[in-house]
Amino acid sequence: MHRLIAGVLLLSSLTACAAPKAAGAPLAPIERAWEVPTLELYSEWWRKTEECSGRKGDMSLVKFFAVDAPTGAIGLNGTIAHGWWVRQGNRIYLPANALGEEWLVRHEMLHALLQRGAHPAKQFVGACHLASVEVWRDSTMHFDPTNPRGL
Ligand SMILES: [Zn+2]
Repeated sequence: MHRLIAGVLLLSSLTACAAPKAAGAPLAPIERAWEVPTLELYSEWWRKTEECSGRKGDMSLVKFFAVDAPTGAIGLNGTIAHGWWVRQGNRIYLPANALGEEWLVRHEMLHALLQRGAHPAKQFVGACHLASVEVWRDSTMHFDPTNPRGL
């Protein structure tokens, strides 16, 4: 029986996530991080994310990392975000206290399924409601108020 700790995130003005773009940029957070096994819950969330997005992917190709980030903010390459998907190595970084935060975990899963760092509204807002916690809570939204252009 696995028990996840549902973290309360400080949601203020942080972006849900970002994807490092610059060549030569560091590819991992500065904070201490460790790989976490994918639990049954993650398989279920992966399936749900495949369903809403219409994309199929092999979750075993994705590595999940917990990051020692008690405030819920992970810094990478000068940017701070709640979570990160890194294309190189297909890695997802989440605050250790947010491993049970469905919208955030599935937000990063959607990046991995799309293999894109951007946030196209079609999938992130309309289809899956995973763009941000605001969009997660209000499924009638047509765009993400924290990222209206879906960057
Ligand atoms: Zn994102």
